[in-house]
Amino acid sequence: MIDLHTHTNVSDGTDSPFELINKAMSQGITTLAITDHDSIDGWQEAERALRPGLQLVKGAEISTLTTDGISVHMLGLLFDGGNEAMITMLNDTKDQRIPRMKKMIELLNRDGITISMDDVMAAAPEGATVGRPHLADALVATGLLKSRDEAFQGLLNNDSKYYVEHVAPTPEEAIRIIKEAGGVSVIAHPFASRRGQIVSVDTFATLVQAGLNGVEVDHRDHNAQERADLLHVTRELNLVATGSSDYHGTGKLNSLGENLTNPAEWERLESMARERRVISK
Ligand code: AMP
Ligand code: ZN
Ligand code: FE
Ligand code: FE
Repeated sequence: MIDLHTHTNVSDGTDSPFELINKAMSQGITTLAITDHDSIDGWQEAERALRPGLQLVKGAEISTLTTDGISVHMLGLLFDGGNEAMITMLNDTKDQRIPRMKKMIELLNRDGITISMDDVMAAAPEGATVGRPHLADALVATGLLKSRDEAFQGLLNNDSKYYVEHVAPTPEEAIRIIKEAGGVSVIAHPFASRRGQIVSVDTFATLVQAGLNGVEVDHRDHNAQERADLLHVTRELNLVATGSSDYHGTGKLNSLGENLTNPAEWERLESMARERRVISK
């Protein structure tokens, strides 16, 4: 059982890397990628928690923006975490998230919604990549909202007037840097339209030119037709098709291993990385 997209409390998941590894082991996952938003800070703890029977794939989910302002999440897997360009990209994105959060809070305050940066920081574990899910948690704590899900359906939706973009690399830049660092890139949930605008199928060819390796086809946010369409494009462009849970602990409904990657597809993806960086004990 191969699950190539999961989050911990290093970003907006609720399990620690240690808990995630244990959960994966007890649920019979054999290959697990840890892919926190714009952060590799969970790698060490995950590796320490690892026991025989589970293979760990180190990765990150990079928040990117197209030149048209469409949000694209790019999974980078098996890259060298010590690569300078990669570290710079991750740090820049992470740093930008604080002023961005302050702007969102300002907009909310202006409309009489009382929430402060301290409230948001209290909702985020120390050092975590601060995002809308933490702002949602803070708003739930004040009693204004009931859940993260409610926040994302209204107040904090991409189309909401309170939404502020954060500075991010383009998908092509992210792909280039992931490749430079020896890793492989997989575009995450490309047709997850409930979140906001999505890229058109035509843009995939451009991303392939930049070095894209795979497409996340099986994902909770894709319906059967979308999966079929994506699989078709993936085959046409000779890309690897993955499936994954995008597990966030209790932060989202997604359960670990609810979507999986075919072993043959994973083998192909892994062979595209510069080194065999999968960790096992
Ligand atoms: P941000 O990166 O701060 O713009 O926040 C976006 C992140 O929020 C996404 O990457 C998801 O992990 C998370 N997210 C999106 N929709 C939901 C939802 N309905 N419930 C909980 N978390 C969500
Ligand atoms: Zn997330
Ligand atoms: Fe994502
Ligand atoms: Fe994710």
